[in-house]
Amino acid sequence: MENQKVDLKNLTLDQLQQFLLELGKEKYRAKQILHWIYQRNVTDFAEMTDLSKDFRLKLAEKAFVSSWYPETVEISSDGTKKYLFRLADGESVEAVRIPMDEGRATLCISTQVGCAMQCQFCLTGTFGLTRNLLPGEIVNQVCAALQDGPISNVVLMGMGEPLHNLDNVVAALKILFLDDGLGFGNRRITLSTSGLVPEIYRLAEQIKVRLAVSLNATTDEVRSRLMPINKRYPLKELMKACQEYARVTKQRVTFEYVLIGGVNDSLADAGRLVKLLHGVRSKVNLIVFNEYEGSEFSAPEEASIKAFQSYLLQREIVATRRASKGQDISAACGQLKGKLDGEQFQD
Ligand code: SAH
Ligand code: SF4
Repeated sequence: MENQKVDLKNLTLDQLQQFLLELGKEKYRAKQILHWIYQRNVTDFAEMTDLSKDFRLKLAEKAFVSSWYPETVEISSDGTKKYLFRLADGESVEAVRIPMDEGRATLCISTQVGCAMQCQFCLTGTFGLTRNLLPGEIVNQVCAALQDGPISNVVLMGMGEPLHNLDNVVAALKILFLDDGLGFGNRRITLSTSGLVPEIYRLAEQIKVRLAVSLNATTDEVRSRLMPINKRYPLKELMKACQEYARVTKQRVTFEYVLIGGVNDSLADAGRLVKLLHGVRSKVNLIVFNEYEGSEFSAPEEASIKAFQSYLLQREIVATRRASKGQDISAACGQLKGKLDGEQFQD
């Protein structure tokens, strides 16, 4: 039966080599198979014509290669596309293709169905966690979106907290990085976290990937109110972990800051932010709060957004403002919820 077979999309190179050894095959065959799966998008072993017929039959007996097609694709007036994928158990996840300049595109992918972190400003957070995604379920979002055009960068900023599913996320990153596979360089993928401190240290030990941290407040009082995770890992510990991550990986850490009207958008906040970032190789990505039905929060006035950004720029902090795309199809940050959840939401 199919579900007792191994989905090769779930395996890292080491694991695939091990699997082949167990089948009595040379491990260098792994590269040939990866090439078929990821570079030629072949899922039927019968078509892998540089493998012996025997070997192909054996593979078909023990393994399969999953392949995804979006169940629905919504297209925004600004060109952003939202893909909805139905999972084997009936759950769903979303990924978003965001067009950038010069024909480039960023793909935003999900790492969990729902999220357990309960950030108060995030729609995904209000539904709780349903389950972790497997490595193959993370990788397949990229494979499916690649069928719809090239992708320059991948961001783990869709549904879910990537560091709450660390092992599967690290495996998925290893697969996305494979030279014989999709070949994403580690500078082309960014992992965004709400700040799980022990997992930030573990990540630094396990793999090199760009890190973005959702800061969103400059005092423990406000941050704990917005993001319950801050009660467990307060700002001081979080900033120390980020400093260490930047040191070990020799990369700047990006701090995401969702500006919420009257909550975290004052110049006093900007001042505290400058102090917090002192000594951390970093840049700031300002995101204007995306409003959604049922939220108690609202976006700040344009003037306060500009003042906040200028304050940072004048103090030589690299602070960009993220253009919010795909609002009309609920594809913007914090608006992903999947189809099933949406139906529940309307009840
Ligand atoms: N769980 C991870 C990654 C997914 S959330 C994390 O929290 O970092 C991706 C980004 O969307 C985070 O920076 C988060 O702060 C932001 N976000 C969540 N809800 C938002 C909203 N309603 N408007 C704008 N940004 C939001
Ligand atoms: Fe989860 Fe990130 Fe949303 Fe917080 S902001 S609830 S961590 S997805």
